[in-house]
Amino acid sequence: MKTPVMKVPNKELIPSRAAKRAHFDAASIYPILDEAFYCTVSYVFENRPFSIPTAFVRYEDRIYIHGSVGSHFIREIEKGIPVCISITLMDALVIAKSAFSHNVNYRSVVIFAQAIKIESEEDKTAAFEWLTNKTVPDSWDYLRPVTKSEIRKTTVLAFELDQASAKIRTGMPNDEAEDKELPIWSGIIPLETRRLTALPDESSIHMELPAHLMDKTIDR
Ligand SMILES: Cc1cc2nc3c(=O)[nH]c(=O)nc-3n(C[C@H](O)[C@H](O)[C@H](O)COP(=O)(O)OP(=O)(O)OC[C@H]3O[C@@H](n4cnc5c(N)ncnc54)[C@H](O)[C@@H]3O)c2cc1C
Repeated sequence: MKTPVMKVPNKELIPSRAAKRAHFDAASIYPILDEAFYCTVSYVFENRPFSIPTAFVRYEDRIYIHGSVGSHFIREIEKGIPVCISITLMDALVIAKSAFSHNVNYRSVVIFAQAIKIESEEDKTAAFEWLTNKTVPDSWDYLRPVTKSEIRKTTVLAFELDQASAKIRTGMPNDEAEDKELPIWSGIIPLETRRLTALPDESSIHMELPAHLMDKTIDR
């Protein structure tokens, strides 16, 4: 497996601010990708920037997105134009003693890449399986199998992860030295994304909840 380990990362991947929070290795980048439900794909079309949120899955050293063959967004980026993809997880609100020292704890990734169109039915189906099982673990085999028509009507695009950076902030506020003794509360308010109890629609009211849909709180 190739990994986006860049001992000397390209200049455009290095943040000018708080560069010590930047990481370029798979061990930092992949867990963020695997926890996030969506990414935002940015590209330029006719001199206008677009930024489109969409579901994705990482498999080995690529991420995969999909969309209708009629989607303007998909049809534009499948040409292989340069795109920038960002992913953000918010872990805490950082409450400092002054407004300007407030912050957030986060894990984010920025990827520069160009789409690779996945052509074969088999490879497209695999990407759907990875995405489905990422979103709802163990659900692919439970569901009605996908049809050839569904696959034909959907474009699947892959992006290599060899031009990616992560930025991670953890810990408590960094108050100014002269503020540290002020009688103002400071600390963090943790945030989390949790799955709550599943609610059946009308067709499922009398069914038992399948085991794979029970309590899937994301643990970190
Ligand atoms: C939830 C959240 C809130 C934030 N709030 C603020 C804010 O209020 N003000 C502020 O200035 N900054 C904020 N940031 C940080 C912001 O994302 C940039 O990292 C920061 O502005 C530094 O920009 P720069 O000019 O150093 O980087 P740039 O020079 O613009 O970026 C250079 C390269 O560094 C890498 N990079 C930069 N930022 C990130 C990142 N976040 N994740 C992964 N790779 C990155 C990319 O590869 C990028 O191409 C926030 C980040 C998050 C996730």
